[in-house]
Amino acid sequence: MQNHKFLQRIFQAYYKEKKDSIPAVSSISNREFAFIPWNKEIMMRHIGFEDLPSLKQYIIKLGPRHMYSSGALYETPEHTNMDQKGFRGCDLIVDIDVDHFYTPCKTDHDIWTCKECQSSGKGMISKCSQCGSLKLSTLNWICKECLNIAKNEIIKLIYKFLVPDFNINLEKIHIAFSGHRGYHLKLEDEKIRTLTSNERRELADYLTGNNISFEILGFQQIQSNIYGFTGNSFDWSRKIVNKIKEILMQYSDDQITDLLTQLGISQNAIKSFIDSREHFLYTITSESHNIWNIEHFGIKTWKKFLEGIVKQVGVEIDEPVIIDIHRLIRYPGSLHGKTGFKVQELSLSQLDEFLPLNENDDALNPIIFESQKNMQKIKINAPEVPRTQIKGESYGPYVRDEIIEVPNHIAIFLICKEVATLV
Ligand SMILES: [Zn+2]
Ligand SMILES: [Zn+2]
Repeated sequence: MQNHKFLQRIFQAYYKEKKDSIPAVSSISNREFAFIPWNKEIMMRHIGFEDLPSLKQYIIKLGPRHMYSSGALYETPEHTNMDQKGFRGCDLIVDIDVDHFYTPCKTDHDIWTCKECQSSGKGMISKCSQCGSLKLSTLNWICKECLNIAKNEIIKLIYKFLVPDFNINLEKIHIAFSGHRGYHLKLEDEKIRTLTSNERRELADYLTGNNISFEILGFQQIQSNIYGFTGNSFDWSRKIVNKIKEILMQYSDDQITDLLTQLGISQNAIKSFIDSREHFLYTITSESHNIWNIEHFGIKTWKKFLEGIVKQVGVEIDEPVIIDIHRLIRYPGSLHGKTGFKVQELSLSQLDEFLPLNENDDALNPIIFESQKNMQKIKINAPEVPRTQIKGESYGPYVRDEIIEVPNHIAIFLICKEVATLV
């Protein structure tokens, strides 16, 4: 409790001190707001505000642990019955969060513990490697690598999909660092607002490449020949062909071997793929040739390969978020209760250079409690805590019961992550 009171107080102080820099979202009086307070683990939903000043007053008083507003617009957002809110459309919300996909750095910093057999290990797994149980508790961490991968996914979403395939005007795109493990994108466009959940599901499939049919794109076997596709037919076949060209032209033999091994392709097939590199590049570059015959590449192997390519080309979005028209999204400028970092809005030109854990521009720095002078004594209360690297400094790893003295922002981060407690 003492930890929560401490965090609530500093969150309140932040909202009071920085109230002029808390941004407004569009149509504020038509959005539903939701909060998770510090004293109980419930979401307080169906809250509406007339304007930004009344919202600010509310959060200065509450100092919430988490704060959200709806992507949807409603006549009466405070109505507790969803059907009676008077739904008027929903912005398109995309959440890219490294929680949902593999990154190599997780082997360094994500810790799992099996609730059945107590064994533990590192990395991203779906079941216990000892007993096979699905009951795992996980401690997920962040580092500049996974946050960079998330950022690249957002950039890919904008410049490889939204702009070229949907002709979206860049001014309608709002981006924010989520304050923890990823980025949000909100698209405010009158035409998009009216899309139904089913249409959003189709859009999600298009962005991820899920449920893609290679046959519809023209891929087929006729007798002993495999007919691939050319890059000039559909958007997705062009994307796939471009990715294959990139691999053939830029990857070393070792990189190709690694990639194809990961896709479960046999060593014989990998060897003939590498041997046919130049010929295959010639085939897919020319528009009149589409016979993809490579030794040991039967139809099954081709599909494994193409599925792997699609995974690389598609965007790692959290599908339920984009589909749900009543979804809530973290409010820009609010604090994330699992880190103490700010949800930082970014313009497209700021996104490229933005480094959430090492940002030099004060106006964009999400680590708002940063202080090298203010030290705080805390005690570790998790079995182990991975190393944290923030602002060029490294802290930890730590083990249970260690008492450490760290700068204010690190103490706040570790207490928010619930791996440390005030002493
Ligand atoms: Zn186990
Ligand atoms: Zn990482």
